[in-house]
Amino acid sequence: MGMILAMQAVRDRQFNNEVVQFAFAFNCEQCGHFCATERACAHEWPVALHLREHYAKPTPEVVFCKEFEAR
Ligand code: SF4
Repeated sequence: MGMILAMQAVRDRQFNNEVVQFAFAFNCEQCGHFCATERACAHEWPVALHLREHYAKPTPEVVFCKEFEAR
């Protein structure tokens, strides 16, 4: 069995409201390991499911990165 490096949660209206209400940070762009010029993770994790642009779409779930570290 491999390591679990991400956690998933349902992305419902309450989640979306709380992101705004509490300024909840979970995207790569808000993470200290993100290289903005290369749009890549310094730890070489895949970023596609953690980027802000991914959540501009109505996705049914949120995928949290377990290495996220707020800037
Ligand atoms: S550690 Fe996770 S959240 Fe941070 S940049 Fe890498 S993939 Fe994104």
